[in-house]
Amino acid sequence: MTSPRKSRVWHPFTQHALHGEMTRIVRGEGAYLYTADDRRIIDAIASWWVVTHGHCHPHIVRAIQEQAEQLNQIIFAGHTHDPAEAVAAQLLKLAPDGLDYVFFSDSGSTSVEVALKMALGYWHNIGVPRTRIIVMEHSYHGDTVGTMSVGARGVFNKAYEPLLFDVASIPFPAAGHEQATLDALEAACKNETAAAFIVEPLILGAGGMLMYPAWVLKEMKRICEASGVLLIADEVMTGWGRTGTLFACEQADVSPDIACYSKGLTGGSLPLAVTLCRAEIYDAHYSSDRSRTFFHSSSYTANPVACAAARANLELWQHGAGDRVASVAAMQQRLIAPFRADPRFENARRTGTITALDLKASDAGYLAGIGPKLQAFFQRRDLLLRPLGNTIYVMPPYCVTEADLEEIYAAIGDAADELT
Ligand SMILES: *Cc1c(COP(=O)(O)O)cnc(C)c1O
Repeated sequence: MTSPRKSRVWHPFTQHALHGEMTRIVRGEGAYLYTADDRRIIDAIASWWVVTHGHCHPHIVRAIQEQAEQLNQIIFAGHTHDPAEAVAAQLLKLAPDGLDYVFFSDSGSTSVEVALKMALGYWHNIGVPRTRIIVMEHSYHGDTVGTMSVGARGVFNKAYEPLLFDVASIPFPAAGHEQATLDALEAACKNETAAAFIVEPLILGAGGMLMYPAWVLKEMKRICEASGVLLIADEVMTGWGRTGTLFACEQADVSPDIACYSKGLTGGSLPLAVTLCRAEIYDAHYSSDRSRTFFHSSSYTANPVACAAARANLELWQHGAGDRVASVAAMQQRLIAPFRADPRFENARRTGTITALDLKASDAGYLAGIGPKLQAFFQRRDLLLRPLGNTIYVMPPYCVTEADLEEIYAAIGDAADELT
């Protein structure tokens, strides 16, 4: 098939043969996006889960402008700068206890790659042959080869499957079946080659907004600890207030051995990521032997402008962002409630500021035929929603108003009437 499109830009997660022209956005402000023909679109998924305080937040924009005039890039090997030092120091104050060092990178996937390399480097450097990674069914950790290896196998990575490395997988802790997950984790941890367990705390995002309770996370941490398996918390999506607390691990009172943060780290303004780790992991690489160096970098590691945006974001968290999170969570709770008994939907659920519900359709899963129809329907209503198959979710920036949310839920109800 050849494309009738004029543009030669290849877009992510987009089947161009089935998709019309891309929506051209010229401006963003708060919870809204504006198109070239001046339509106002409500951003109900925070532009793929990154925007927290709103598009073009003035405090973050100003920080970017000032830093760009001062120092916009510097090699981060052998050099440092104030924005990076400030972000690292503040992150260590806010993150769960026990995390001692901060490694910068530039995307969620990379922060996970770094986490895996830290874990494997730790065991290698202390001379223990542990190399097996334990993962959870339905999880998503990114689209690079390493992160696909630890994520769910399926349509996203079928073509690359022969190259993905082998992992041990435990079932998702579905309500009523939590013990099976814990038993499977315990069995996997007993394997003497188990190096680390990587998990998205409280919500599996791209896997379908699957939610599980904090006590399960706490138990999983206990099981890992008992056998020395490192716990990697992938908070790339769950961080920055999404689950109701700054980081999801707080709700389980869990200190991971390694934590990954990205997406909302700059408030959703510039790409940046960090991987935090315990001192033992850093110490295992600290040596007069240069071969034990942590050999990882990206060209733009700790880019000063991105770090300035992150520093401004952290300032906003010290000045009332948590109150906005609580108020969005309360609005979401009120608005999702009627859908719990709605026969057109199932599994209406909420964790913190995120809600999700599954439209009863003839087929389910990411490639469910209803997915693109739903998306097109919402687009006609000037709403940016991007269902995962028949799973519709709402993950707004925290400046969203109650009226915006009411409009979103009204459209979800109308979509069910019109499309099923
Ligand atoms: C989005 C996401 C990633 C990947 O982040 P990118 O910045 O897209 O590379 C990793 N883990 C989780 C849980 C995510 O939601």
